[in-house]
Amino acid sequence: MAQMLTNHLDPPMTCSSPALLKTFAVEKMQPEWHDWKWQFRNRITNLETLKEYICVTGEEEKAFQAAGKNLPFAITPYYIDLINPQDPNDPIRKTVIPRMAEFTTTAAEMVDPCGEDGKMVAPGLVHRYPDRVLFLVNETCSVYCRYCTRSRLVGSGKHEVDFSAAYEYLRNHSEIRDVLISGGDPLVMSDEKLEGIIKNLRAIPSIEIVRIGTKIPVVLPQRITDDLVNMLKKYHPFYMSIHFLHPDEITPEVEAACNKLADAGIPTFSQTVLLKGVNDDAPLMKTLMQKLLKIRVRPYYIYQCDPVQGTSHFRTSIDKGLEIMEHLRGHTTGYAIPTYVVDAPGGGGKIPVTPDYVVSREPGKTTLRNYKGEVYHYLEE
Ligand SMILES: *Cc1c(COP(=O)(O)O)cnc(C)c1O
Repeated sequence: MAQMLTNHLDPPMTCSSPALLKTFAVEKMQPEWHDWKWQFRNRITNLETLKEYICVTGEEEKAFQAAGKNLPFAITPYYIDLINPQDPNDPIRKTVIPRMAEFTTTAAEMVDPCGEDGKMVAPGLVHRYPDRVLFLVNETCSVYCRYCTRSRLVGSGKHEVDFSAAYEYLRNHSEIRDVLISGGDPLVMSDEKLEGIIKNLRAIPSIEIVRIGTKIPVVLPQRITDDLVNMLKKYHPFYMSIHFLHPDEITPEVEAACNKLADAGIPTFSQTVLLKGVNDDAPLMKTLMQKLLKIRVRPYYIYQCDPVQGTSHFRTSIDKGLEIMEHLRGHTTGYAIPTYVVDAPGGGGKIPVTPDYVVSREPGKTTLRNYKGEVYHYLEE
Protein backbone atom coordinates (compact mmCIF):
# COMPACT_ATOMS: atom_id res chain seq x y z
CA MET A 1 0.00 0.00 0.00
CA ALA A 2 1.26 3.43 -0.85
CA GLN A 3 0.46 5.02 2.48
CA MET A 4 -0.14 3.02 5.59
CA LEU A 5 -2.14 4.24 8.53
CA THR A 6 -1.29 2.42 11.69
CA ASN A 7 -3.46 4.17 14.27
CA HIS A 8 -5.60 1.06 14.80
CA LEU A 9 -3.98 -2.20 15.64
CA ASP A 10 -6.12 -5.17 14.87
CA PRO A 11 -5.94 -8.58 16.53
CA PRO A 12 -3.54 -11.07 14.96
CA MET A 13 -4.69 -13.05 11.98
CA THR A 14 -5.66 -16.69 12.11
CA CYS A 15 -4.30 -17.41 8.67
CA SER A 16 -2.20 -20.50 9.19
CA SER A 17 -0.61 -20.72 5.77
CA PRO A 18 -0.50 -17.44 3.85
CA ALA A 19 1.45 -19.20 1.10
CA LEU A 20 -1.67 -21.25 0.25
CA LEU A 21 -3.88 -18.22 -0.36
CA LYS A 22 -5.49 -18.08 -3.77
CA THR A 23 -5.00 -15.11 -6.06
CA PHE A 24 -6.72 -14.05 -9.27
CA ALA A 25 -3.47 -14.19 -11.24
CA VAL A 26 -4.86 -16.73 -13.72
CA GLU A 27 -8.34 -15.17 -14.02
CA LYS A 28 -6.80 -11.77 -14.71
CA MET A 29 -5.27 -13.17 -17.90
CA GLN A 30 -8.67 -14.37 -19.16
CA PRO A 31 -11.14 -12.30 -21.17
CA GLU A 32 -13.87 -12.97 -18.53
CA TRP A 33 -12.01 -10.77 -16.08
CA HIS A 34 -13.07 -7.79 -18.17
CA ASP A 35 -16.69 -8.93 -18.33
CA TRP A 36 -18.72 -7.17 -15.65
CA LYS A 37 -21.26 -9.97 -15.50
CA TRP A 38 -18.49 -12.46 -14.75
CA GLN A 39 -17.16 -10.13 -12.05
CA PHE A 40 -20.65 -9.80 -10.56
CA ARG A 41 -21.40 -13.54 -10.69
CA ASN A 42 -18.07 -14.38 -9.08
CA ARG A 43 -18.34 -11.99 -6.16
CA ILE A 44 -17.05 -13.23 -2.82
CA THR A 45 -20.15 -13.44 -0.65
CA ASN A 46 -19.28 -15.72 2.29
CA LEU A 47 -16.58 -16.32 4.88
CA GLU A 48 -15.42 -19.63 3.41
CA THR A 49 -14.58 -18.10 0.03
CA LEU A 50 -13.15 -14.97 1.59
CA LYS A 51 -10.69 -17.11 3.58
CA GLU A 52 -9.37 -18.60 0.35
CA TYR A 53 -8.14 -15.15 -0.72
CA ILE A 54 -7.54 -13.16 2.48
CA CYS A 55 -5.99 -13.92 5.87
CA VAL A 56 -9.06 -13.28 8.00
CA THR A 57 -8.59 -12.08 11.59
CA GLY A 58 -10.29 -13.93 14.43
CA GLU A 59 -12.39 -10.85 15.09
CA GLU A 60 -13.55 -10.62 11.47
CA GLU A 61 -14.47 -14.30 11.56
CA LYS A 62 -16.54 -13.70 14.70
CA ALA A 63 -18.40 -10.89 12.94
CA PHE A 64 -19.52 -13.26 10.17
CA GLN A 65 -20.70 -15.78 12.72
CA ALA A 66 -22.51 -13.17 14.82
CA ALA A 67 -24.34 -11.76 11.82
CA GLY A 68 -25.42 -15.09 10.41
CA LYS A 69 -27.37 -14.80 7.21
CA ASN A 70 -28.42 -11.18 7.78
CA LEU A 71 -25.13 -9.73 6.69
CA PRO A 72 -25.07 -8.03 3.31
CA PHE A 73 -21.56 -8.94 2.24
CA ALA A 74 -20.07 -8.97 -1.23
CA ILE A 75 -16.78 -8.00 -2.87
CA THR A 76 -16.01 -8.23 -6.57
CA PRO A 77 -12.90 -10.20 -7.58
CA TYR A 78 -11.55 -6.98 -9.10
CA TYR A 79 -11.89 -5.04 -5.84
CA ILE A 80 -10.63 -7.77 -3.50
CA ASP A 81 -7.58 -8.00 -5.72
CA LEU A 82 -6.64 -4.45 -4.58
CA ILE A 83 -6.38 -5.62 -0.95
CA ASN A 84 -3.11 -6.80 0.55
CA PRO A 85 -4.33 -10.20 1.86
CA GLN A 86 -1.96 -10.24 4.82
CA ASP A 87 -2.36 -6.71 6.11
CA PRO A 88 -5.17 -6.31 8.68
CA ASN A 89 -4.74 -2.53 8.40
CA ASP A 90 -5.19 -2.42 4.64
CA PRO A 91 -7.43 0.63 4.13
CA ILE A 92 -9.68 -0.91 1.47
CA ARG A 93 -10.08 -4.10 3.48
CA LYS A 94 -11.49 -2.14 6.43
CA THR A 95 -14.26 -0.71 4.30
CA VAL A 96 -15.61 -4.03 2.98
CA ILE A 97 -14.83 -6.80 5.51
CA PRO A 98 -17.14 -6.94 8.55
CA ARG A 99 -15.87 -6.35 12.07
CA MET A 100 -17.36 -7.03 15.50
CA ALA A 101 -17.55 -3.27 16.03
CA GLU A 102 -20.54 -3.29 13.64
CA PHE A 103 -22.57 -4.76 16.48
CA THR A 104 -21.86 -1.84 18.81
CA THR A 105 -24.37 0.99 18.71
CA THR A 106 -23.72 4.34 20.38
CA ALA A 107 -26.42 6.64 21.78
CA ALA A 108 -26.09 9.10 18.89
CA GLU A 109 -26.44 6.45 16.17
CA MET A 110 -29.58 5.94 14.13
CA VAL A 111 -31.06 3.49 11.65
CA ASP A 112 -31.83 6.26 9.16
CA PRO A 113 -29.40 9.07 10.09
CA CYS A 114 -30.25 11.38 7.19
CA GLY A 115 -33.97 11.09 7.86
CA GLU A 116 -34.72 9.84 4.35
CA ASP A 117 -37.72 7.68 5.24
CA GLY A 118 -39.52 10.73 6.64
CA LYS A 119 -39.08 12.58 3.32
CA MET A 120 -40.21 9.66 1.16
CA VAL A 121 -43.03 11.08 -0.96
CA ALA A 122 -43.53 7.92 -3.07
CA PRO A 123 -41.79 4.52 -3.01
CA GLY A 124 -38.10 5.30 -3.69
CA LEU A 125 -38.52 9.06 -3.99
CA VAL A 126 -36.94 11.31 -1.31
CA HIS A 127 -37.88 14.98 -1.63
CA ARG A 128 -35.91 17.13 0.82
CA TYR A 129 -34.71 20.15 -1.17
CA PRO A 130 -36.86 22.62 -3.11
CA ASP A 131 -35.84 21.76 -6.66
CA ARG A 132 -34.35 18.26 -6.67
CA VAL A 133 -35.00 14.72 -5.51
CA LEU A 134 -33.17 11.56 -4.63
CA PHE A 135 -34.60 8.54 -6.42
CA LEU A 136 -33.68 5.18 -4.80
CA VAL A 137 -34.24 2.63 -7.55
CA ASN A 138 -32.77 -0.58 -6.07
CA GLU A 139 -31.28 -2.13 -2.94
CA THR A 140 -28.46 -4.12 -4.50
CA CYS A 141 -24.78 -3.16 -4.73
CA SER A 142 -21.83 -4.95 -6.27
CA VAL A 143 -19.81 -4.41 -3.07
CA TYR A 144 -21.27 -3.63 0.38
CA CYS A 145 -19.57 -0.78 2.27
CA ARG A 146 -19.43 -1.48 6.01
CA TYR A 147 -20.25 2.18 6.83
CA CYS A 148 -23.23 2.37 4.47
CA THR A 149 -25.63 5.19 5.26
CA ARG A 150 -28.48 3.08 3.84
CA SER A 151 -27.63 -0.15 5.63
CA ARG A 152 -31.31 -0.26 6.65
CA LEU A 153 -32.20 -0.93 3.02
CA VAL A 154 -29.35 -2.56 1.15
CA GLY A 155 -28.84 -6.21 0.43
CA SER A 156 -32.41 -7.16 1.23
CA GLY A 157 -34.43 -6.45 -1.84
CA LYS A 158 -34.90 -8.63 -4.81
CA HIS A 159 -38.52 -7.55 -5.11
CA GLU A 160 -39.56 -5.27 -7.95
CA VAL A 161 -40.78 -1.86 -6.87
CA ASP A 162 -43.46 -0.12 -8.87
CA PHE A 163 -42.28 3.44 -9.50
CA SER A 164 -45.44 4.75 -11.12
CA ALA A 165 -46.26 6.81 -8.01
CA ALA A 166 -42.79 8.41 -8.16
CA TYR A 167 -43.23 9.40 -11.82
CA GLU A 168 -46.70 10.70 -11.01
CA TYR A 169 -45.27 12.84 -8.18
CA LEU A 170 -42.58 14.26 -10.49
CA ARG A 171 -45.18 15.08 -13.17
CA ASN A 172 -47.23 16.91 -10.55
CA HIS A 173 -44.26 18.84 -9.08
CA SER A 174 -42.81 20.89 -11.89
CA GLU A 175 -40.50 22.68 -9.42
CA ILE A 176 -38.32 19.54 -9.46
CA ARG A 177 -35.69 20.07 -12.15
CA ASP A 178 -32.99 17.60 -11.02
CA VAL A 179 -33.27 13.88 -10.27
CA LEU A 180 -30.42 12.02 -8.57
CA ILE A 181 -30.81 8.28 -9.20
CA SER A 182 -29.23 6.19 -6.46
CA GLY A 183 -29.91 3.01 -4.46
CA GLY A 184 -28.30 0.48 -3.73
CA ASP A 185 -26.29 1.06 -6.87
CA PRO A 186 -28.29 1.83 -10.03
CA LEU A 187 -25.46 0.58 -12.26
CA VAL A 188 -25.94 -3.05 -11.15
CA MET A 189 -29.12 -2.93 -13.24
CA SER A 190 -29.05 -4.00 -16.87
CA ASP A 191 -28.72 -1.27 -19.50
CA GLU A 192 -32.31 -1.95 -20.55
CA LYS A 193 -33.78 -1.59 -17.09
CA LEU A 194 -31.79 1.54 -16.33
CA GLU A 195 -32.72 3.07 -19.66
CA GLY A 196 -36.39 2.41 -18.87
CA ILE A 197 -36.08 4.53 -15.72
CA ILE A 198 -34.13 7.34 -17.38
CA LYS A 199 -36.58 7.41 -20.29
CA ASN A 200 -39.51 7.79 -17.91
CA LEU A 201 -37.75 10.71 -16.23
CA ARG A 202 -36.82 12.35 -19.52
CA ALA A 203 -40.49 12.21 -20.59
CA ILE A 204 -41.24 14.75 -17.83
CA PRO A 205 -40.55 18.19 -19.36
CA SER A 206 -39.76 19.98 -16.07
CA ILE A 207 -36.77 17.68 -15.37
CA GLU A 208 -33.69 19.51 -16.65
CA ILE A 209 -30.87 17.26 -15.47
CA VAL A 210 -30.53 13.61 -14.50
CA ARG A 211 -27.66 12.19 -12.52
CA ILE A 212 -26.61 8.84 -11.04
CA GLY A 213 -24.85 8.26 -7.72
CA THR A 214 -22.73 5.10 -7.90
CA LYS A 215 -19.63 3.27 -6.68
CA ILE A 216 -19.51 0.95 -9.69
CA PRO A 217 -16.73 2.73 -11.64
CA VAL A 218 -14.46 2.08 -8.59
CA VAL A 219 -15.45 -1.43 -7.53
CA LEU A 220 -16.56 -2.87 -10.88
CA PRO A 221 -15.04 -0.61 -13.56
CA GLN A 222 -15.75 -3.28 -16.19
CA ARG A 223 -19.41 -2.20 -15.97
CA ILE A 224 -18.60 1.04 -17.80
CA THR A 225 -18.99 -0.44 -21.25
CA ASP A 226 -19.30 1.31 -24.61
CA ASP A 227 -22.93 0.18 -24.73
CA LEU A 228 -23.65 1.74 -21.35
CA VAL A 229 -22.10 5.13 -22.13
CA ASN A 230 -23.70 5.18 -25.59
CA MET A 231 -27.05 4.67 -23.91
CA LEU A 232 -26.47 7.28 -21.18
CA LYS A 233 -25.27 9.96 -23.56
CA LYS A 234 -28.62 9.92 -25.36
CA TYR A 235 -30.08 11.51 -22.23
CA HIS A 236 -27.84 14.57 -21.84
CA PRO A 237 -27.48 16.65 -19.75
CA PHE A 238 -26.54 13.57 -17.75
CA TYR A 239 -24.09 13.61 -14.80
CA MET A 240 -22.49 11.07 -12.50
CA SER A 241 -21.36 11.18 -8.85
CA ILE A 242 -18.81 8.47 -8.07
CA HIS A 243 -17.89 7.20 -4.61
CA PHE A 244 -14.09 7.16 -4.13
CA LEU A 245 -12.22 6.53 -0.86
CA HIS A 246 -8.52 6.08 -1.37
CA PRO A 247 -5.77 6.81 -3.92
CA ASP A 248 -5.08 3.05 -4.26
CA GLU A 249 -8.49 2.76 -5.96
CA ILE A 250 -7.27 4.72 -8.97
CA THR A 251 -6.08 1.86 -11.14
CA PRO A 252 -5.68 1.71 -14.93
CA GLU A 253 -9.13 0.04 -15.11
CA VAL A 254 -10.76 2.87 -13.14
CA GLU A 255 -8.93 5.43 -15.23
CA ALA A 256 -10.26 3.80 -18.41
CA ALA A 257 -13.81 3.76 -17.04
CA CYS A 258 -13.72 7.43 -15.99
CA ASN A 259 -12.17 8.52 -19.26
CA LYS A 260 -14.89 6.66 -21.14
CA LEU A 261 -17.53 8.58 -19.21
CA ALA A 262 -15.77 11.90 -19.81
CA ASP A 263 -15.34 11.15 -23.51
CA ALA A 264 -19.10 10.57 -23.73
CA GLY A 265 -19.60 14.07 -22.35
CA ILE A 266 -20.78 12.84 -18.94
CA PRO A 267 -19.34 15.13 -16.26
CA THR A 268 -18.20 13.08 -13.28
CA PHE A 269 -17.88 14.22 -9.66
CA SER A 270 -16.44 12.44 -6.64
CA GLN A 271 -17.95 11.77 -3.24
CA THR A 272 -15.70 10.58 -0.42
CA VAL A 273 -16.71 9.51 3.07
CA LEU A 274 -14.17 10.49 5.72
CA LEU A 275 -13.25 7.22 7.47
CA LYS A 276 -10.95 6.61 10.41
CA GLY A 277 -7.90 4.56 9.50
CA VAL A 278 -8.84 4.64 5.82
CA ASN A 279 -8.50 8.21 4.57
CA ASP A 280 -8.39 10.49 7.65
CA ASP A 281 -5.05 11.85 6.62
CA ALA A 282 -4.51 15.23 4.96
CA PRO A 283 -1.64 14.32 2.57
CA LEU A 284 -3.47 11.13 1.54
CA MET A 285 -6.66 13.05 0.84
CA LYS A 286 -4.73 15.60 -1.22
CA THR A 287 -3.20 12.78 -3.26
CA LEU A 288 -6.67 11.33 -3.86
CA MET A 289 -8.12 14.66 -5.03
CA GLN A 290 -5.20 15.30 -7.37
CA LYS A 291 -5.41 11.79 -8.81
CA LEU A 292 -9.14 12.32 -9.43
CA LEU A 293 -8.44 15.39 -11.54
CA LYS A 294 -5.98 13.36 -13.60
CA ILE A 295 -8.81 11.00 -14.56
CA ARG A 296 -11.18 13.96 -15.17
CA VAL A 297 -13.29 13.44 -12.05
CA ARG A 298 -14.02 16.72 -10.27
CA PRO A 299 -13.88 16.42 -6.45
CA TYR A 300 -17.36 17.28 -5.17
CA TYR A 301 -18.06 16.24 -1.57
CA ILE A 302 -16.18 14.91 1.44
CA TYR A 303 -18.82 13.60 3.84
CA GLN A 304 -18.47 13.43 7.57
CA CYS A 305 -19.36 9.78 8.32
CA ASP A 306 -23.08 9.59 9.11
CA PRO A 307 -24.01 8.32 12.58
CA VAL A 308 -25.55 5.14 11.21
CA GLN A 309 -25.83 2.19 13.62
CA GLY A 310 -22.65 0.17 14.02
CA THR A 311 -20.21 2.63 12.42
CA SER A 312 -18.54 4.29 15.43
CA HIS A 313 -15.23 2.58 14.58
CA PHE A 314 -15.20 4.53 11.29
CA ARG A 315 -16.04 7.99 12.56
CA THR A 316 -13.44 10.65 13.05
CA SER A 317 -13.72 14.20 14.39
CA ILE A 318 -14.96 17.22 12.52
CA ASP A 319 -11.60 18.80 13.48
CA LYS A 320 -9.93 16.16 11.31
CA GLY A 321 -12.17 17.07 8.39
CA LEU A 322 -11.38 20.76 8.85
CA GLU A 323 -7.65 19.97 9.01
CA ILE A 324 -7.96 18.15 5.67
CA MET A 325 -9.76 21.11 4.09
CA GLU A 326 -7.09 23.52 5.40
CA HIS A 327 -4.47 21.30 3.82
CA LEU A 328 -6.17 21.58 0.41
CA ARG A 329 -7.25 25.22 -0.03
CA GLY A 330 -4.42 27.30 -1.45
CA HIS A 331 -2.04 24.36 -1.40
CA THR A 332 -3.39 22.75 -4.55
CA THR A 333 -5.59 23.35 -7.60
CA GLY A 334 -8.95 24.87 -6.70
CA TYR A 335 -10.66 22.18 -8.78
CA ALA A 336 -9.17 19.59 -6.38
CA ILE A 337 -11.06 21.05 -3.42
CA PRO A 338 -14.40 19.43 -2.62
CA THR A 339 -16.96 20.75 -0.15
CA TYR A 340 -16.79 19.11 3.26
CA VAL A 341 -20.33 18.45 4.49
CA VAL A 342 -22.21 17.02 7.42
CA ASP A 343 -25.48 15.43 6.32
CA ALA A 344 -27.39 16.75 9.31
CA PRO A 345 -28.50 13.92 11.61
CA GLY A 346 -32.28 13.86 11.72
CA GLY A 347 -32.78 15.06 8.18
CA GLY A 348 -31.52 18.64 7.79
CA GLY A 349 -29.67 17.90 4.58
CA LYS A 350 -26.05 18.57 3.68
CA ILE A 351 -24.46 21.41 5.63
CA PRO A 352 -21.02 22.70 4.56
CA VAL A 353 -18.30 22.90 7.21
CA THR A 354 -15.45 25.20 6.25
CA PRO A 355 -12.29 26.44 7.93
CA ASP A 356 -12.83 30.04 8.95
CA TYR A 357 -10.82 32.46 6.85
CA VAL A 358 -12.64 35.50 8.23
CA VAL A 359 -10.68 36.71 11.27
CA SER A 360 -13.04 39.56 12.19
CA ARG A 361 -15.67 41.85 10.72
CA GLU A 362 -16.60 45.40 11.57
CA PRO A 363 -18.53 47.97 9.53
CA GLY A 364 -16.55 48.65 6.36
CA LYS A 365 -13.68 46.35 7.26
CA THR A 366 -13.21 42.60 7.06
CA THR A 367 -10.03 40.99 8.32
CA LEU A 368 -9.08 37.78 6.55
CA ARG A 369 -6.34 35.23 6.69
CA ASN A 370 -4.94 33.34 3.72
CA TYR A 371 -3.94 29.68 3.50
CA LYS A 372 -0.54 30.49 5.04
CA GLY A 373 -2.11 32.28 8.00
CA GLU A 374 -1.11 35.74 6.79
CA VAL A 375 -3.60 38.44 7.72
CA TYR A 376 -5.15 40.88 5.20
CA HIS A 377 -7.78 43.61 5.45
CA TYR A 378 -10.53 44.26 2.93
CA LEU A 379 -11.91 47.79 3.21
CA GLU A 380 -15.36 48.53 1.80
CA GLU A 381 -14.71 52.08 0.70
C1 LIG B 1 -27.49 14.63 -1.49
C2 LIG B 1 -28.92 14.74 -1.80
C3 LIG B 1 -29.37 15.43 -2.93
C4 LIG B 1 -28.42 16.10 -3.90
O1 LIG B 1 -27.71 17.11 -3.27
P1 LIG B 1 -26.72 18.07 -4.10
O2 LIG B 1 -26.08 18.92 -3.03
O3 LIG B 1 -27.58 18.86 -5.03
O4 LIG B 1 -25.75 17.20 -4.82
C5 LIG B 1 -30.73 15.51 -3.14
N1 LIG B 1 -31.61 14.96 -2.29
C6 LIG B 1 -31.21 14.31 -1.18
C7 LIG B 1 -32.24 13.75 -0.26
C8 LIG B 1 -29.86 14.17 -0.90
O5 LIG B 1 -29.45 13.50 0.19
